Amino acid sequence: MQRSAASSILLRRLTYGDYDLILTLLTDRFGKLSLIAKYAKKSTKRFAGILEPFAALNIVFSRGRKKGLAVLQEASLARPFSRIRTDILATAHASYWVELVDTWLEEGHPQQGLYRLLEFSLDRLDEGKTPVALLSILFQVRFLHLAGLSPELGRCSKCHRDLNEPGRARLMVDHAAGGVVCSSCGRADGPRLAPGTVKQLQWLDRGDLHQALRVRFSAASLEEATVFLEDFVPYHLGRSPKSLKVLRQLRGVPNPMT
Ligand SMILES: [Zn+2]
Repeated sequence: MQRSAASSILLRRLTYGDYDLILTLLTDRFGKLSLIAKYAKKSTKRFAGILEPFAALNIVFSRGRKKGLAVLQEASLARPFSRIRTDILATAHASYWVELVDTWLEEGHPQQGLYRLLEFSLDRLDEGKTPVALLSILFQVRFLHLAGLSPELGRCSKCHRDLNEPGRARLMVDHAAGGVVCSSCGRADGPRLAPGTVKQLQWLDRGDLHQALRVRFSAASLEEATVFLEDFVPYHLGRSPKSLKVLRQLRGVPNPMT
């Protein structure tokens, strides 16, 4: 039997039989990993109630020689995220981020950039100093980048005309085409983005995560970027996350799909 240790963030948990939990985690070293936590459901002592969604855990697990699920041997809480857990809107955002990672990522591919992004975003969310909407925009922009799904924001997604000219009007958006489109390619009644919002989205996609958060968004830009990304991300993942529905309900925004 081979034992390994990792830092991890819990993406999802499922009850398995009467006693066990099946956990899906994003680890720093092994990418996405599923494992079984035996007796975790039955005995509160065994893992002391720490196997909660988006928990940051230091884990030790073992794999047998045969194929099959790895087994969780030890888990300790690396960060409690107590501020997130007492704030329903922060909890809804953290749940949305981990669901995006879980939906997109396949097992067995190390994804250190994605691990760092999720850890950074949860840490900043728990710290409570950055507006939650800005953090969620940063998370989604960087997530799309790492997933190879970034929106085209500098050129028309259809005819590839450069759209960076100064003094341009609000840009039309075409999710199917993959980003912004010029006035000849777009639909006049479709969604739009202000040039300032496009610039801020481009800024967030560059350089160091700490530095990216220095960007100043107006309230209108925050709102516009949030609506754009929360439509764009599910469209390109091919699935509407359940946690996004909850997030919209909390904000009092109607769900477009329901
Ligand atoms: Zn065009």
